[in-house]
Amino acid sequence: MSAKLIDGKQIAIYLRAELKAEVEKLKQKGITPGLGVILVGADAASVSYVTAKEKACSEIGIYSDDNRLGAETSEKDLLALVDNMNRDPKINGILVQLPLPKHIDEQKVLLAIDPAKDVDGFHPVSVGKMVVGQKAFLPCTPHAVLQLLIRSGVKLEGAEVVIVGRSNIVGKPLANMLIQKSPTGNATVTICHTKTKDVSAHTRKADIVIAAAGRANTITADMIKDDAVVIDVGINRIDDATKKRGYRLVGDVDFAEVSKKAGLITPVPGGVGPMTITMLLYNTVESAKTAAGV
Ligand code: NAP
Repeated sequence: MSAKLIDGKQIAIYLRAELKAEVEKLKQKGITPGLGVILVGADAASVSYVTAKEKACSEIGIYSDDNRLGAETSEKDLLALVDNMNRDPKINGILVQLPLPKHIDEQKVLLAIDPAKDVDGFHPVSVGKMVVGQKAFLPCTPHAVLQLLIRSGVKLEGAEVVIVGRSNIVGKPLANMLIQKSPTGNATVTICHTKTKDVSAHTRKADIVIAAAGRANTITADMIKDDAVVIDVGINRIDDATKKRGYRLVGDVDFAEVSKKAGLITPVPGGVGPMTITMLLYNTVESAKTAAGV
């Protein structure tokens, strides 16, 4: 491997230590940031994400109000819970774990969250503010990618960036963040998707390739130029009989081969994942400060 590793786990440890110190100072002023967490059903991946988020909150001193509801919970009851959290002064951020069961309208629930508590950054008000460059809650995964790039000293101004994936939670917001006229933007961004004629024609020219496709081996070594920066957002389960749980996690990038050619690369696990939760904690602390006028 010739690429230098971007160690998301380590960067997340530093950032969480900074946040913990900030929470301690806020507590001395009588302010305790609070996160309301809602999980409907028992989807295995969602349970593990929510558990990790709750653990991270408690480690840095954020109060978390955990609500694990049965899969049969009605849309009306869920909306009532969101409404209670909107009005609860102890709650600064509301996180509704997605996906929701099919009988619940996801958009309706996300729209019901008070934008002032939208720490996931999915509300159209947050998205709109982000696009026009106003202060907003930035969605956690794209913000995690941005922080990894900044904290690894990657030059964004003038960089050619290719993002593979155009979802509302990763590709689209990340592209918007990277084109902002600001010191943490000013990049030239191309987004590829399944209708792109020749993905590698774009990635081969890129200084920075960001993979968010949700498919293993989407980015192979022949698709990048020498010394490119490669950020792997993907999380894919691959059957592996040698593992106790029967599978292992891989990203969207062929790590073994791409890491021989790239300049900087994130691993999976241990890259974007730990930073995503950290940015949720960051948004919750910011929200508490705003609510308290700090
Ligand atoms: P998504 O909603 O399924 O979107 C995937 C995007 O990738 C779509 O825009 C799709 O194009 C595009 N795509 C798929 N295969 C492609 C290919 N071969 N070539 C070009 N484009 C392709 O997924 P998502 O929610 O954005 O998540 C993406 C990945 O990131 C998943 O593995 C997910 O688990 C992971 N993730 C990780 C974190 C983290 O914290 N690390 C957080 C969120 C998501 P079309 O639009 O044309 O279908």
